[in-house]
Amino acid sequence: MQIEAAYKAEIINIAEYLNTNYKEDQFVNIVKSHESTQPNMNSIIKTAAKITEELIQSSEKGDAKQDGIQQTKARWGESLRKKWKNKVINGQYITNIDRELISEEDTFLWLSKGDLKEETGSEIVAAQDQALQTKYYATKILNTETDSKCRLCQQFDETIDHIISASPILAKEQYIKRHDRVCAQLHFNICKVTGVQLDKKQWYERVPDLVETSQGGKVTILWNQQLQTDRTIPNNKPDIIIRDNEKGTCMLIDLQYQETEM
Ligand SMILES: [Zn+2]
Repeated sequence: MQIEAAYKAEIINIAEYLNTNYKEDQFVNIVKSHESTQPNMNSIIKTAAKITEELIQSSEKGDAKQDGIQQTKARWGESLRKKWKNKVINGQYITNIDRELISEEDTFLWLSKGDLKEETGSEIVAAQDQALQTKYYATKILNTETDSKCRLCQQFDETIDHIISASPILAKEQYIKRHDRVCAQLHFNICKVTGVQLDKKQWYERVPDLVETSQGGKVTILWNQQLQTDRTIPNNKPDIIIRDNEKGTCMLIDLQYQETEM
């Protein structure tokens, strides 16, 4: 049902794109003129017109005929979102977006770039929707297991959140590795935008220096350095410090996304 709606919405999108861009873009123009020679079933534009017609006919709202394609798509989107949200486990992600615990714009940004392999992308989406076959999912939803405890630590429910950020077994090594890699990439990008001369093109080829200075000396970037404070402060080693030498200010960056189970 959802796949069908998504498919129909996408067909309408493509048809709209072809219809509006063919005048300016010669390639779109070629596609459009090829389209017009195709039999009904192979033509996206004709299929889109048929879908729109169907939708107008099946709509219970009397004013549906006045609705443009945009409103039709918005209605579809709204009803899909509602269905998604009503799912007890899969819906938690969208609920968290609505509660602004997750940034709606940022969380879907990677999808718009399209630089991951299909399989990787679908796995991330499944993980976000908590639709991977964790033991918790197998116990509560699929009813194929009776024990929901984590395969590694056997202490807590094996949920996606647990695997990603709260398993005490993974915390010993895997989470630290991930943390360090995220920091290294962030450090690399900070160096890049502040004008530090970099000897490597890719962040993963480079080991951050403890102290880096931008060309001209405006900014100093410290990696994993202890803060000098008047009083003793525990955990005084932020991952990255950006010091603006002109203004005399510091920005401290410390990354943390490991949870502890209650
Ligand atoms: Zn565990």
